[in-house]
Amino acid sequence: MDIRERTLEIIKRLKKEYPESKIALNYKTSFELLVATILSAQTTDVHVNRVTEKLFKKYKSIGDYAHVPLDTLRKDIGSINFYNNKAKNIRASAAMIIEKFNSNVPQSMEELTSLPGVARKTANIILSNAYGINEGIAVDTHVKRVSYRLGLTENEDPVKIEKDLMAITPGEERGNLSHLLIFHGRKICQAKKPKHSECVLYDLCPSRDI
Ligand code: SF4
Repeated sequence: MDIRERTLEIIKRLKKEYPESKIALNYKTSFELLVATILSAQTTDVHVNRVTEKLFKKYKSIGDYAHVPLDTLRKDIGSINFYNNKAKNIRASAAMIIEKFNSNVPQSMEELTSLPGVARKTANIILSNAYGINEGIAVDTHVKRVSYRLGLTENEDPVKIEKDLMAITPGEERGNLSHLLIFHGRKICQAKKPKHSECVLYDLCPSRDI
């Protein structure tokens, strides 16, 4: 089995194991997804969802975020890591979307990454989940660890990992792969104690004896 066939088999098995796999952040609009994704850096999705439950009730439009005093927004997301920078980035992104993109969250990697606080990972999450565009693969800490253990990459830098994964994953599966590896990383292939004996990928994994 070559690496592409192995990747497809991994996706097939993980889809069966996690039929519910999808993004764990709650949102209703593409801008809410952008806000939630900015907030999620170095913070758990559960915590972000707790904060956005109130936030999304208070702020209804992109303009609400663009025009709120910075201090108010800071307080509203104050329990989140790096709330200061995140508040600045959310507010500045909202203003830029209104001004440059006619109040629509952009649908290209180049435009999305021109927004403050939006790097490639965030842009991939927006493109895939809000617009169904699988231009790249969002690489978070779980994707990084699990793909390395599975031998799908030998790199540790997220941009290089993304390139490696894109080379072996068909376009239509790129969004899925990210969600599936995240689910598997949370449940089975955990950072400290991977549960090899419970893993559906055991026979495919070069790290099963670590
Ligand atoms: S066999 Fe172990 S290291 Fe490999 S994917 Fe499964 S849990 Fe992770």
